[in-house]
Amino acid sequence: MKYWVANLLLIICTCCNSQESSQTSISYILIDGLVKDHFERLRASGKLPCLDSLVKRGLYVENGITSFPSMTGYAFYPYLTGKPAYESGVFGLRWFDRDRREGNLRNYVGRSNIYMNEDLSLENSTIFELFPDDYTASINSFLNRGTKDSRKLGWSLTTSKYDDLSYFGKLKKIPIFGNHIFIDSYENEEQVLDLALKQISQNPKVHWITFPTLDARYHVYGYDENYDLLLTHIDSLIQVYIDYSIKLGHSNRHFAIISDHGMTEVGENIDPCLILKDSLDLKIERGRSTNLRKLKLDTPISKLEDLDAYFVINGNLTGYLYFKSLGKSNSWKQRNYDSDQYPLFDSTIEVLHNSAGIEFVIASKSKSIHEISNRKGVGQIRFEDEKFRYIISGVDPLGYESQAFPYDSLLTSDQLLKLTYASKYPDAIVKIHGLMSHNESPDIVMCSKKGYDFGKDYEIFVSNYKGGHGGLHREMMTVPMILVGPKVKREVLPYLRSEDMGKLLIDILK
Ligand SMILES: [Zn+2]
Repeated sequence: MKYWVANLLLIICTCCNSQESSQTSISYILIDGLVKDHFERLRASGKLPCLDSLVKRGLYVENGITSFPSMTGYAFYPYLTGKPAYESGVFGLRWFDRDRREGNLRNYVGRSNIYMNEDLSLENSTIFELFPDDYTASINSFLNRGTKDSRKLGWSLTTSKYDDLSYFGKLKKIPIFGNHIFIDSYENEEQVLDLALKQISQNPKVHWITFPTLDARYHVYGYDENYDLLLTHIDSLIQVYIDYSIKLGHSNRHFAIISDHGMTEVGENIDPCLILKDSLDLKIERGRSTNLRKLKLDTPISKLEDLDAYFVINGNLTGYLYFKSLGKSNSWKQRNYDSDQYPLFDSTIEVLHNSAGIEFVIASKSKSIHEISNRKGVGQIRFEDEKFRYIISGVDPLGYESQAFPYDSLLTSDQLLKLTYASKYPDAIVKIHGLMSHNESPDIVMCSKKGYDFGKDYEIFVSNYKGGHGGLHREMMTVPMILVGPKVKREVLPYLRSEDMGKLLIDILK
């Protein structure tokens, strides 16, 4: 929406003020791919006046801890339910469901995004479902089960994501229609605001808004000057949205400014399927990155008969391996823990340890014992009586020795968060256990080294990305969180998990 239209709406609503309401309500404003360091730098230099003023009058979390894998959509879950993402029943934006006869690769990127809501466990309600009689609304979210009014700007996001590519640039030059067909990143975010103003005029009890382009552009181009400019632009749009809500008389509306993950730059793309083919002659498939045309996830499991394993990419800095067990009738169904079950299990880990571009490998001994390892050492995570024990042999792959970490001691989840939130891998022990403690968990998880991703020749239009997320490193796992509203005191918290922010937001509405 152009600014003059927004201003006109402000004038109109000031005159009638018909929406004045004291109902307690929440607006979630998610800035996709908000990198903590860039946010802090721009805020310090006065480039984010709206967000800075919110930080100074509300709750500010300096190190918000997101979900692992640090993924779009999947990481929305804790904010909406107050529960960790590993309780969602899904395992990222892509995962392999062993229990199905067809559509085992659950890939929510592209037209198949509608399956994410369907696949969520029914155990936890979303905040939309908690208020079934109220008007609720969302923009650009495919994890929004229960929302009354869901809008997605898919085409605009696609053209804006690739707006520097020549064939999309040519579209804009088509007379009259070009500007409508081709939307750049700045216009895309203005379209988001446009929709948000329309929805908020109906006073939604819960309003979810995703500003998507920081994430989208960073994947394709890496970090460039547009990142800062777009963030400044989004800051100004958030100000228009909040001002409009105030003019409408929504005196009890709360605003949560959150993110799903940070981002990191990628200079080299590798393909673990090729590495394992060359070393162990394993036949592994990774599926398509995006379901551009195909809506239905219906590939029958019989078509995977010739494979040794399936590889699934998230973000593209985390990857999952699922082995087909040998000699069993329903051979994909069983989770594999070691070489007794799958003979090449240990050799696979060894090959991955010796491959350039892989930071570490995660595998489990059982649903409560997991190991994170690299060539120099192994860290064993044991979950005992609702507490965690972390035991190392060799050098700690997570580098916690510099935190004076109490190895071998039984620690609660809260103690672990306090001990590790400022480290290179914040909250990693709890997050790894969460991901690996289910029947449906992957057999092996791998995280790429700084500067690498797992998506060689994988992406549509550009083949290889120049930036990404998904991993355990603090660049991706740590995001700023801000909350303002009549029930919120001014406070700075050094750290908070996204599910605890979610609990706080649900409590505000109760
Ligand atoms: Zn994202």
